Amino acid sequence: MSRDPRYDVLFEPVKIGPVTARNRFYQVPHCTGLGWLRPRMVAALRGMKAEGGWGVVCTEFCSIHPASDDLPHPYASLWDQGDIRAHSIMTEQVHEHGSLAGAELWFGGSRSTNLFSNEVAMDVANLPNAIGIPYQARAMDKSDIRELRRWHRNAALRARDAGFDIVYVYATHGYLLSHFLSSKTNTRSDEYGGSLENRVRLVRELIEETKDAVGDRCAVAVRFSADEGGDDDGDPVIGEHRDMIEMLAELPDLWDININDYSREMGVSRFIKEGSLEAYMSYVKSITSKPVVTVGRFTSPDTMVSQVNRGIVDFIGAARPSIADPFLPKKIEEGRIDEIRECIGCNICYTGDSTSTPIRCTQNPTISEEWRRGWHPEKIAPKGSDSNVLVIGGGPAGLEATRALGRRGYHVMLAEAKHTLGGRISRESELPGLGEWARVRNYRVHEIQNMHNVDVYFDNLMDVEHVLAVEADYVVIATGASWLADGRGLYNKTPLNELGPPEQVFTPDDIMAGRLPQGPTLVYDDDHYYMGNVIAELLRSKDIPVTLVTPEVMVSTWSDSTGEHGRVQRRMMELGVEIITSHALTAFNGNAAEVECAYTGNRRNIEVDAVVTVTIRSPKDGLFHELQQSLESGADYKPDSLTRIGDCLTPTIIAGAVFSGHRYARELDTEVDPDNRMKYDRVFFEDE
Ligand code: ADP
Ligand code: SF4
Repeated sequence: MSRDPRYDVLFEPVKIGPVTARNRFYQVPHCTGLGWLRPRMVAALRGMKAEGGWGVVCTEFCSIHPASDDLPHPYASLWDQGDIRAHSIMTEQVHEHGSLAGAELWFGGSRSTNLFSNEVAMDVANLPNAIGIPYQARAMDKSDIRELRRWHRNAALRARDAGFDIVYVYATHGYLLSHFLSSKTNTRSDEYGGSLENRVRLVRELIEETKDAVGDRCAVAVRFSADEGGDDDGDPVIGEHRDMIEMLAELPDLWDININDYSREMGVSRFIKEGSLEAYMSYVKSITSKPVVTVGRFTSPDTMVSQVNRGIVDFIGAARPSIADPFLPKKIEEGRIDEIRECIGCNICYTGDSTSTPIRCTQNPTISEEWRRGWHPEKIAPKGSDSNVLVIGGGPAGLEATRALGRRGYHVMLAEAKHTLGGRISRESELPGLGEWARVRNYRVHEIQNMHNVDVYFDNLMDVEHVLAVEADYVVIATGASWLADGRGLYNKTPLNELGPPEQVFTPDDIMAGRLPQGPTLVYDDDHYYMGNVIAELLRSKDIPVTLVTPEVMVSTWSDSTGEHGRVQRRMMELGVEIITSHALTAFNGNAAEVECAYTGNRRNIEVDAVVTVTIRSPKDGLFHELQQSLESGADYKPDSLTRIGDCLTPTIIAGAVFSGHRYARELDTEVDPDNRMKYDRVFFEDE
């Protein structure tokens, strides 16, 4: 297939100072949870983006000097010769595919605590630690500023020596330079404080000095916020930022524009839709002749073309769409739009950074696995035998196993009890705000539909006899999990003795099946992710009074890791949900629920007509165990293997189920050394 000429503009080369990007697809700097710790993993991840057609591929932020480290988060660094070597693995892999590599130089100021280096943090003024760690940052004096400029210059030289083509001055996201810019944090009375010109001085100096140091070979990009913040859901408050960009307009070679509110810039799809930064940054191109890039979780090529043609941006910036589908540009180029694996905006990828673990993605199970498991997002080994495979259950695990096995060329029989595919995806994507999650199902169903070697059997509730009758070579069970209705979970280790009557007790499965409570309802959230608060929202939309009770100190604690907690809390408050934290459900008698303080054990009653328990799920593994038993007791037919995957193996997030299905398909008929399941990446020694 060939490219639709409508999308030609996306494949035009664009000059950025002394270098030229081969197209308009630009992977902006994004964290991976790999950083300096895992140089080969991160290099392979970035190289894969270049192979997939991204014309520019950037690092995550790179600390310029030990005076700013970001532990416990595994940031990248450009401190020494060892770092140059580590980064050069990435730049080589990016260059191999004709793309440009960009390095984002970073100094955290009061956002970094320096828990690794034990250096005292420095910022524009004496400031509290921005993430609430009880360390403060001291005010920089003029000699500190001179040192900072020297460190920045030297890091730029190291970036050039590592082979980078674009070097960033990073002046946003609440790090040091944004504090110099802001009149709120910059209280200095010297030439770096006070007037706009003074507050912009350091950024200007760093741009000029970076250009002077590496500008003959590298482009200098500036990452800058288009707005000053303020009301994140009302009209953008641009404030002085337009003036600042005007003052520096022609100085850098490229403007990488984002906005002040991170929960919008990187917002989950429940709250923020594609292209949401436009209203904030659309003025930028009118005041600079330099190329402009911004993000917006762009997955639609039509939206991308429209952004370019209307003069909003020159480059289509992406972090998440490039994670969900590293081959997005190639698919557009080759006219394979319907094969794009669209980001669902769940921000599981962001939890890699917030929990300091290798990045994972709901849509792309191969991310982080490029080097250590050798997984390619678009290529998979051909089948290892002529065996056929029976997959039971068409949720995310079963669908992904079927899709990947089908790609390998196996004859796959997918049996699904229901009339439709998708399992939990189909149910959960009907909940308020989660519509885009259906993309997990849609992408896989679309792929499967085009495979002649895959047969789907709907309305097939499989039991042991059915499975034995099929006589498949391999049997894989992906029958999912169901929510417990007995109150057992993280807080209550055993089922509650008094929890009834059953018709007034509900689980998320009941709610998703349309069995709703009547009257005031207590939603008991001991799951701590999205399900509790989404159900609260659903019930409020039916005018049911809701009290949300959680043993944790705040609502939906884990949603902090996906960067959505602030918006979740606000949504609950705006909907009039009564929130009771640090309390657990201990009993319910049909008229009142008893809750217990997690600290004192004091108990009190709350009058409600119904309770929804959102605690833990139980694997639906009955079929697996029955089959196992039947095979052990000498059934005539024996498959080569019987395996369970996804939530049936252990209930987890959707990304976990997809990964489980993918892994099953990858490893079938292959030798996996149980003691060395993957390669182990680690940092280099300088003299290695
Ligand atoms: P996962 O997240 O592990 O993929 P889901 O709960 O989303 O699990 O999906 C499980 C799927 O399995 C559902 O679509 C369900 O209808 C199907 N299923 C459950 N039991 C059977 C069975 N015995 N035979 C066929 N399909 C089943
Ligand atoms: Fe998109 Fe979710 Fe994947 Fe992140 S984890 S790239 S938000 S699908």
